[in-house]
Amino acid sequence: MPKAQETILEIDLKALSHNFNHLKSKLNANTKFLAVVKAYGYGSDACEIALHLQELGVDYFAVAYVKEGVALRDAGITLPILVLHPQPVNFKTLIERCLEPSLYNAKVLRAFIDAAKDEKQKDYPVHIKFNTGLNRIGFGENDIDNIHTSLINVKSVRIKSIFSHMAASEDLNEKDFTLSQIASFKTICDKISKLFGYLPMQHMCNTSGILNYPEAHFDMVRSGIGLYGFGNSEKESQDLKPIATLKSVISQIHLIKKGETVGYNRAYKSDTFQKTATIPIGHADGIGRQYGNGKGFVTINGKRAPIVGNVCMDMIMVNITDIECQEGDEVIIFGQHPTAEVFSKSANTISYEIITAMSQRIKRVIL
Ligand SMILES: *Cc1c(COP(=O)(O)O)cnc(C)c1O
Repeated sequence: MPKAQETILEIDLKALSHNFNHLKSKLNANTKFLAVVKAYGYGSDACEIALHLQELGVDYFAVAYVKEGVALRDAGITLPILVLHPQPVNFKTLIERCLEPSLYNAKVLRAFIDAAKDEKQKDYPVHIKFNTGLNRIGFGENDIDNIHTSLINVKSVRIKSIFSHMAASEDLNEKDFTLSQIASFKTICDKISKLFGYLPMQHMCNTSGILNYPEAHFDMVRSGIGLYGFGNSEKESQDLKPIATLKSVISQIHLIKKGETVGYNRAYKSDTFQKTATIPIGHADGIGRQYGNGKGFVTINGKRAPIVGNVCMDMIMVNITDIECQEGDEVIIFGQHPTAEVFSKSANTISYEIITAMSQRIKRVIL
């Protein structure tokens, strides 16, 4: 592929197919696959990712907010789209665009029933979210009777699925806790099926759940990070391929004399002769200030160049004293090697954070 001439995020759809097929191979033939494409497809390009996955035969999509679902519909996604965390203010739009809400407390359930009636809907598919230990959003087991009472004479909505979310599916030290979450979820499913007289689809696993808890795949699994090429451990990651490569170029090279400083606040003071390269990417692009001052690094001609001084809004300066390179040379920030996981560790964070931080200013190039 041609060398980068500006900052770009390359998205490799072949790697996406690989990850999808790998995760799919962990499922029974009749288990459905929901692809999580929230947050711009984990910072890549939600629409391109979703269109590709739609062709590969994924069953469902999920986004966090209504606006993200609308963008998928505008791009031609026709599969069902679950909105994980909708707000009542957007329910009319949600219904108009055939998005399916997660309903997670009495207030949103009530608001959605009203919205579905107002829009003259019949059996509108909704998904009831249960909290089994993450304590983030969701009804409790004790709310089941009230959910039933609220829905018993309601023709406008129908429960399509019930689901929950694991708090520590990647952490095998927390296996007992996860097993207790799975057990609570099963109890909830039983109660729902008895009260309602039908059993909606059930789902619980995220990527690490798929890999670590095959007994909890139920009717569908929800994968995000795995599709983008990361697991939550080295073992999980080894069969996956990062789909996104962040590249840039050297804009300018500076020779820094002993005693000179580099960047804002003069944060870097040189005590010997140094050579620096200025790269057109900064904290406005997603490279946070915590990567500055020697923590984060880029790769130039196969060698590591640490970030020198503070990260600026649109630029970083890196130390290239020992690297053979020129203005215009390509710079790799993360991709196959080093991965976003390795890069993010340099600032004590996780792959999820760095990949979703890529700002919309960075040009996406689809391979
Ligand atoms: C984001 C999210 C997922 C995807 O999790 P990964 O760890 O990225 O696979 C699944 N379910 C819910 C409810 C989520 O919010």
